Amino acid sequence: MLEITGLSVNYGTIRAVRGISLTVARGELVSLLGANGAGKSSTIKCIAGALKAAGGSIVLEGQDITAANPEQVIRAGLATVPETRDVFPDLTVAENLMLGAYIHRRDQAGNRQNLERLHTLFPRLAERSNQPAGTLSGGEQQMLVIARALMARPRVLLLDEPSLGLAPAIVERIFEMIETLKKSGLTILLVEQNVNQALAVADRAYVMRLGAIVASGTAEEIRSGSDLSAHYLGG
Ligand code: ATP
Repeated sequence: MLEITGLSVNYGTIRAVRGISLTVARGELVSLLGANGAGKSSTIKCIAGALKAAGGSIVLEGQDITAANPEQVIRAGLATVPETRDVFPDLTVAENLMLGAYIHRRDQAGNRQNLERLHTLFPRLAERSNQPAGTLSGGEQQMLVIARALMARPRVLLLDEPSLGLAPAIVERIFEMIETLKKSGLTILLVEQNVNQALAVADRAYVMRLGAIVASGTAEEIRSGSDLSAHYLGG
């Protein structure tokens, strides 16, 4: 479904991602783990078309999207929830959601149907539909940015640290929701620092350190790997 081969990302002379390869099969939930600065966000931004690859390739369902811009990537079927969690604070929840449907703006019936489905999945957003997004709690804003990405009707969803800065009870809800999305057939690449929770929902995982992938395997293999904490802590 998503095939990344030898991908590199540079910031000037800084080599943030150094020729990594990873795959995500259809319907799979894959976690990308690693300490701060390991290169996870740079990888996500590059897949999303927000950063240019210095080398390697990104192929989505057989289509090469390595040089695609963000809109082309979304149109190809891949949506991203960046860790910045930015909502448009003065727009209502409903207006924020409709912005996610930009590429389908001529299909209003389809958008209404998708919105109804998302309201079932995120009842809290339905309740707050007409409220400015800036008045939502952190957890609700995280739900909103995920729902907004889903308005693009992606087949692959990239989630960059959805649990960042949220209270444990809210993190629990976010992970339950990620599991629900997986069960609905969505293919997911999940970047997390929250290793235990990420491995609990993942089929497979990759561990990054200093721009390279240093371990990969099933969630069970990664969990039992004695070297995980050393890699994860960057030790
Ligand atoms: P975090 O969890 O903190 O987001 P990460 O694993 O996502 O960490 P990246 O943000 O991808 O890591 O950073 C990888 C490397 O690239 C780090 O050394 C970081 O300092 C560097 N880097 C990231 N963004 C920039 C930038 N805009 N300019 C220069 N260097 C950057």
